[in-house]
Amino acid sequence: MTGTLSDGSHKTFVFDLDGVVYLDRSGVPGAGEALTALRHAGHQILFATNNSVRAVETVAGNIARRTGFVPEPGSIVTSGLAAANLLRDSNETCLVLGSDELGATLSGAGIELTTDPANATAVVVGLDLGLSYERLTRAVVAIGGGARFVATNDDATYPMPNARYPGAGSIVAAVERATGTTPIVCGKPNRPMRDLVERKIENPEVWMVGDRPETDLALAADAGWGKILVLSGVTDHHDPLPPELRPDYIIATIAHLPELMSLEASENRG
Ligand SMILES: [Mg+2]
Repeated sequence: MTGTLSDGSHKTFVFDLDGVVYLDRSGVPGAGEALTALRHAGHQILFATNNSVRAVETVAGNIARRTGFVPEPGSIVTSGLAAANLLRDSNETCLVLGSDELGATLSGAGIELTTDPANATAVVVGLDLGLSYERLTRAVVAIGGGARFVATNDDATYPMPNARYPGAGSIVAAVERATGTTPIVCGKPNRPMRDLVERKIENPEVWMVGDRPETDLALAADAGWGKILVLSGVTDHHDPLPPELRPDYIIATIAHLPELMSLEASENRG
């Protein structure tokens, strides 16, 4: 990957969401204007989030409401969608330790759901904001009984404006600890997510914009994409990084992307 971002060719940008486009329920200041400027310059904009709490339609609405930028239909990939894609052809009956919208994403792909551990042939674990000992137990019992263990993602934390909350990886770790079983992980940087994103890419040159090196930048490194690290999420510029995860560019927030691309920031017209 070359170091220049402003050579005039149309590129594909793959944006992470939490910590990059928004933090909790607020858009990162300038995010909508930056995304709009890139779109007006002819670049393709995709979103790839490891967060499996919301279905794609809800995520699209959240991006629009929080930033003013309306994503193209089909331009969003979630780790829940990657899990659905992984399981859709194998006739699984799934027990979900995650949100209702993760369940809806799976059933929307034709996957049968169950809440009975004895009936489950697969367990999908994601960030579960209603986590309880009972729900955790059902997942553990199902996997103990032979069900496949699939994790939407294993991000240890979830970025909030003033703190880091536990992410799906913390719940996955509890299940892993109790069962002694290692999950198939769908989210970045793993293959199920990468496969879904790669199907949507329209340009030969791709840049990943993310806040978490071990997921966002690792995916970019594996796929041969350029790497742009933003410091608005879980990473501090003092955090040391292994050589393979070192970004090509580090910017404070995505509001600085148009400048990096030598574009005029435009009015946010969505
Ligand atoms: Mg992030």
